[in-house]
Amino acid sequence: MSSADLIKILGTAGARYVVARQLRYSAGTLIRLGGETILLDPGPGTLVRLAKSKPAIDVTTLDAIILSHGHIDHCNDVNVLIDGMTEGGLKRRGRLFAPRDCLEGENAVVFNYLREFLEEIVTLEPEREYQQGGVSFSTSAPHDHGTETYGIIFDHRGDRISFMVDTRFFPELLPSYEGSGVLVINLVRHKPHESGDVRHLCLDDAREILKAIRPRQAVLTHFGMTMIRAKPWVVAQQLADELGLDVRAASDGMTIELR
Ligand SMILES: [Zn+2]
Repeated sequence: MSSADLIKILGTAGARYVVARQLRYSAGTLIRLGGETILLDPGPGTLVRLAKSKPAIDVTTLDAIILSHGHIDHCNDVNVLIDGMTEGGLKRRGRLFAPRDCLEGENAVVFNYLREFLEEIVTLEPEREYQQGGVSFSTSAPHDHGTETYGIIFDHRGDRISFMVDTRFFPELLPSYEGSGVLVINLVRHKPHESGDVRHLCLDDAREILKAIRPRQAVLTHFGMTMIRAKPWVVAQQLADELGLDVRAASDGMTIELR
């Protein structure tokens, strides 16, 4: 794989039906920036999708893993990736960034025996800045998602590359993502859930978000069944026409080259 700055979305599945039936892959997102290789939200199948990418992506080339939150479609493969990237602990290397809920307490998701294989485990807190090698990223304000969840915003060479992960929409979400050149949105639902109690974004929310942020490049991903049925590429084109923005629907394995 080249060393150019890029995002590779290994999987685009976003809710239990789509994940359980693997209608889309549920692997995470590979981010290569400034020579660092970072895996965000390693859902089920991430190790497989790395190995099966063309060309294959060697797990030992990962420098860091970031978990946005501890739901299974975001963290299932974290343990096997830690084992892989450290060669079973033979090489103490790599960093894990994760919210406290993923690391401590009854919902912790990282096996204890693997923790010492890593160079460092960094606890994510809201609206804080972090460094990975020469790359800086910050966390968003807390998302409204039922478990401790942060969006991830990279500030790189004057550009902002943002990942608005799972959340219910609320207006206070927007300032964290202001100025995003590239905005990846986890758009799980086409219509709001009838119960009004599903803490995920729907199409109307995505429209509001894109109107407010107006990124140079918007990418929709993490699709639930209602989005799959609505054909994500059709939804993306409609938003693009309506808002006059470049909006793309992610497909499994899609690479976005960064400027
Ligand atoms: Zn979630």
